[in-house]
Amino acid sequence: MTTREVAYRVTVGNVEMLAVSDGTGEFPAANAFPKATSVDWQRHPGALTADGKLQVNFGSFVLRSQGQTILVDTGLGPGRQGRLLEDLKAKGVPLDEITIVAITHLHGDHVGWNVVVEGGRHRLTFPKAKYWIPKGDWDHFLQPQQLERAPLLKTVVLPLQELGALRLVDGETAMTSEVSMAPTPGHTPGHMSVVVDSQGERGFITGDVISAPVQAQEAVWEVAFDNDREQGRRTREAVLERLEREKCLVGVGHFLPPNFGRFVRTKGRLHWQGV
Ligand SMILES: [Zn+2]
Repeated sequence: MTTREVAYRVTVGNVEMLAVSDGTGEFPAANAFPKATSVDWQRHPGALTADGKLQVNFGSFVLRSQGQTILVDTGLGPGRQGRLLEDLKAKGVPLDEITIVAITHLHGDHVGWNVVVEGGRHRLTFPKAKYWIPKGDWDHFLQPQQLERAPLLKTVVLPLQELGALRLVDGETAMTSEVSMAPTPGHTPGHMSVVVDSQGERGFITGDVISAPVQAQEAVWEVAFDNDREQGRRTREAVLERLEREKCLVGVGHFLPPNFGRFVRTKGRLHWQGV
């Protein structure tokens, strides 16, 4: 086996982007793609482990732009032995440097490190940050019956309001003049991606619009975790088309490192090419 240096730091124009991770895991492929058959998977050698599992990263990203340090998503969190804080430290990002925490959507593997409990009280993990959360997800997931199904949100999302750190984002919204949050609904009702446009270069953090490289070829496969599977597919197809056309430098949190790369077409076939 050959080892390969993996780039965790890239730039898009003036914007510096770092890939960080809270850890990795694996689960049966059918949990994510319930309708994909073993024959379908045979078209994608190497996409699964020998025992038919998908390997996933729980990745976050740090973007430095115009004096702001933006952390995109906060992983599984301390309850799941996440190592995001260690990885931020190792890559030179002090927790109090972060000025914006941009949450792509309110699933438990994207909000885990929002707050920590200290002396029975909630405290912001990133003490100087405002937490930007899609309003569509806030409205959906913080309804009583949803909170019952996802009690983690009571401990890591609701406290942001009491702590005065919450900012709800509705529609495309600029974080700096180079970096924005933009709606990409389907996986969740308010799901957002992060768009970078600097010095004629484009970058894009997908959130869970895409979560496995096989989706470059199989964008139509139904994703079990999509709240609205039909809308999820339409968004995924539109985003992939845009990423290819704009030659975006893309970060996908759930891809194993290198999880910066591009979607490129070779012999008519779209595929992921890590940096
Ligand atoms: Zn996820």
